[in-house]
Amino acid sequence: MTTFSNRDKNSIWHPFTPQVDGKEAVTIVRGEGALLFDEDGKEYIDAIASWWVNIHGHAHPHIAKRISDQLKTLEHSIFSGYTHKPAVILAEQLLQLIPHCGKVFYSDDGSTSVEVALKMALQYWHNSGKPKTKFIAFENAYHGDTFGGMSVAERNVFNNAFEELLFDVAHIPVPVKGSEERALKALEKAIDENTAAFIFEPLIQGAAGMIMYDAKILDEMIALCGKRNVITIADEVMTGFGRTGKMFATDFLTNKPDIICLSKGLTGGFFPLGATLCTDKIHSAFITNDKTKTFFHGHSYTGNPTACMAALASLEVFGMENTMKRVGEIGKIFSGWMKEFSADAKVNDARSCGAVFAIELKTAGQTEYLNPIADRIHDFFPGHGIILRPLGNVLYVLPPYCITDVQLEKVRTAIQRFLELN
Ligand code: PMP
Repeated sequence: MTTFSNRDKNSIWHPFTPQVDGKEAVTIVRGEGALLFDEDGKEYIDAIASWWVNIHGHAHPHIAKRISDQLKTLEHSIFSGYTHKPAVILAEQLLQLIPHCGKVFYSDDGSTSVEVALKMALQYWHNSGKPKTKFIAFENAYHGDTFGGMSVAERNVFNNAFEELLFDVAHIPVPVKGSEERALKALEKAIDENTAAFIFEPLIQGAAGMIMYDAKILDEMIALCGKRNVITIADEVMTGFGRTGKMFATDFLTNKPDIICLSKGLTGGFFPLGATLCTDKIHSAFITNDKTKTFFHGHSYTGNPTACMAALASLEVFGMENTMKRVGEIGKIFSGWMKEFSADAKVNDARSCGAVFAIELKTAGQTEYLNPIADRIHDFFPGHGIILRPLGNVLYVLPPYCITDVQLEKVRTAIQRFLELN
């Protein structure tokens, strides 16, 4: 029988997917809550929220209705010289949630929200007549797949092929427990006259393997950057919208970053949309009669009304369903898992933060994306009705917040079984 899975092979090149292993992609036909269903009617718990985007559940009726109504009114319009209600209301609401910022710049996804942030920072210095070009980032960092995002990231298998073309960045240690002082000293040493900005994933480095560190040390690092006139950029693409236990990871901080990148959960996982928020101070360098100092950046779909409406509807669901209470409950469950799995002889480290749980498996190879145990994890979980894509030897659960306790228990039991068998 010809299914979409084998038709797919003839026409589609999938992301982050080796092109020789002959595996067919599973065809998903429907979603509901934390579940996805394939063309045979088999159900899967989406334990990684479809690459960290889905927060309230698939095909959520409220978001679907708001999008549908928007589509019948205005699907899209140019966003330079023109505006529309969903973009304005969304910007106002985002600024209410992140009150130290003063402006919202829309783009298409996480990578573009980071590109905008990097360019904004560089042009801030350019427009201010004090050009600075150096960036500081954390070791292990991941900030997307465009050239700016790849440049500020760790040099690794994701970007090896492009290494010569990536701009130079000072990478400093991540302030994980025990390394706080070393990281702070490294930051102090890395800052020089030419340092434009310091970019970081606040509290959790996602793609690196859900590496976690404390808000306290990040606060100190941001304070140091402030003193030394270095712009700080928080990449909240993964951590935003409740994932760490507060609406934003930077809500745990006293010292706030100058620029914040948002995407993924922004639309509840319904549409691609990026938003880069900045303070009035950053924006002020662009308020000038000199047209050459304009921020010449934009995408065809910038501020797409349908995507903005999805984001507004998602924010409404936070209120309607008291979503943050559920995040707190998931956080408690994950703390329990952390204790349980820490005691497992096959686990190097178990950690949790908000609605993120991760275990680092003891393997011959180190923590790296191509660790062969990843293939065994890929193969094992779909058979148990669970979608889990590991990050090398790091197995993590980052579910839609609507996941039920029963579904979470199914995931926990499957992880336990995987550990017993491997
Ligand atoms: N920044 C971070 C912290 C991310 O986790 C990601 C995606 N995993 C990105 C940026 C890039 O986002 P996108 O895939 O939407 O371009």
